[in-house]
Amino acid sequence: MKPEARHAVCPGSFDPVTYGHLDIFGRACQLYDEVWVAVFHNASKNALFSVEERVELLRETTADLTNVKIASFQGLTVDFCQKHGAGVIVRGVRAASDFDYELQMAQMNYGMGGIETVFIPTNPLYSFLSSSMVKDVAKWGGDVSPHVPPVVQSRLIERLRQD
Ligand code: ADP
Repeated sequence: MKPEARHAVCPGSFDPVTYGHLDIFGRACQLYDEVWVAVFHNASKNALFSVEERVELLRETTADLTNVKIASFQGLTVDFCQKHGAGVIVRGVRAASDFDYELQMAQMNYGMGGIETVFIPTNPLYSFLSSSMVKDVAKWGGDVSPHVPPVVQSRLIERLRQD
């Protein structure tokens, strides 16, 4: 499928989805006609939730965004983009420390598939927020309600109680 500049992909681990991610999806939806949120299977990352669970939580928490589609994928992000006709990858950038890695990945993805990367600066409300921080806080009984939607909070509590 020929890539379209009006279709974008937000790739990530989303283990689990946070308000920081949701802010980026909402803003991407204002910029693009169709936004794919794509969960990658990453065997090297020790995930708390399975890919299917992450997809399910993304479906529930993005139900109000009418131009979002949720999927999972293995392999290269540029191949996912080409398969779905998306010409742009959207990434949220929290701090300068995110930037070196993001820049390398953007240059690699442009070189491999001619896919552009657009960086959206994080909402300052969420600049310190990451899935791993949320998991740490929840693990020790801290309140994560300012950082994740209620459905994610209850799944976190349930999962961490089992472990
Ligand atoms: P990855 O393993 O690709 O870093 P993440 O799920 O951590 O996957 O992040 C997916 C995307 O969401 C990335 O572009 C990341 O920079 C962005 N992101 C993560 N947390 C935030 C946040 N608090 N604010 C804005 N963007 C964020």
